Amino acid sequence: MTVTSTTMRLLPVRWLLLVLFLVVVTSLCMAVVVTGRTDNNGVVDNNRFIANNRLHQVYWKYLNDRRSKRSSASNSNSRLLLSLQPSRGDDGRLPGDVFIAVKTSGKFHRSRLDVVLDTWLPLVQKQTWLFTDTEDRDLSERAGGHVVDTKCPSDHSRSALCCKMAAELETFLATNNRWFCHVDDDNYLNVAALARTLKLYNADKEHYLGKASIPAPLEIMDRDALPTEKKISFWFATGGAGFCLSRPLAEKMAPLVTEGGFVNIGDKIRLPDDVTVGYINEVLLDTPLTHVREFHSHLEPLKTISPHSLKDQVTMSYSTYEDTGESNVVSIEGLSRETDPTRFLSLHCKLYPRSAKYCL
Ligand code: UDP
Ligand code: MN
Repeated sequence: MTVTSTTMRLLPVRWLLLVLFLVVVTSLCMAVVVTGRTDNNGVVDNNRFIANNRLHQVYWKYLNDRRSKRSSASNSNSRLLLSLQPSRGDDGRLPGDVFIAVKTSGKFHRSRLDVVLDTWLPLVQKQTWLFTDTEDRDLSERAGGHVVDTKCPSDHSRSALCCKMAAELETFLATNNRWFCHVDDDNYLNVAALARTLKLYNADKEHYLGKASIPAPLEIMDRDALPTEKKISFWFATGGAGFCLSRPLAEKMAPLVTEGGFVNIGDKIRLPDDVTVGYINEVLLDTPLTHVREFHSHLEPLKTISPHSLKDQVTMSYSTYEDTGESNVVSIEGLSRETDPTRFLSLHCKLYPRSAKYCL
């Protein structure tokens, strides 16, 4: 018997094992989901969304393991001295009319914001505002007074997060800035890359820019069509990767967002704030998400971003995998893991050498 025919015979067995693996993973996810997340009112959140998200993480982790095996040989390339500075002719400055909103919470004022305030934020301090839930004079001083106490609940529930996103949008609408960009407090914002990205789009037109973290549009039941089981599907930009809206689009959203509108829509679809932004734009306002690859959340395996391309990435993040305790961070040489667990200091030093005392 030839090798080829043996392989052919083994193929169905492989497929069977793969299908079995996926069924087990799906059931586990559903079990976690069904017993898991509830919002403030005790209503179970949209299971399909959360299952999608969990599956997505499993999927990325699987891909990541395979990629890292394949690329371990080529990883030595990352030891080459990298030229991460913005290319010539690009002053890397962000126009002053780009409003940056950072979502945070009292419990993260030190643990997450310290590194943000030590790296990218001072570059754009005048146009950046921190949206939090706890009064903190020390933070206000460190952030040049640019802190908004939203009075939203300080928890991770859907309604609390929607309340904060609504505050971000309403604050932006009260200014005359041309772009609204949201990031989380566990994001590094590459200011120069954001400037280059926004230049590609006409700020006078409606734009919704960001990165989806699920492989297909999200499908939910249309609650307006009940009792018929009509489904709607749409993309949304993951909040944890950051996203931007042009002013004309934000103005179009305004009637739906202000005076409690955003929170009400989040309540109606029972989904988190970033999904609510996607629903409003794609479903209600017919403005599709423009997928921008250079936004990154920690739902992705961040080490798969080539070190050579870090200068082009708009946002980055970090996290720790719950199951293994392994950290999910961008791959960059520089300061030790102990000094720089998020790798943001090292990244910042590569992008802006000599910018801070901690740079080698
Ligand atoms: N957050 C918040 N209140 C909370 C927990 C989180 O405002 O009780 C914010 C947090 O500061 C961050 C965003 O929500 O900007 C996402 O939170 P986190 O990174 O902890 O969770 P993720 O959704 O990324 O897993
Ligand atoms: Mn996060």
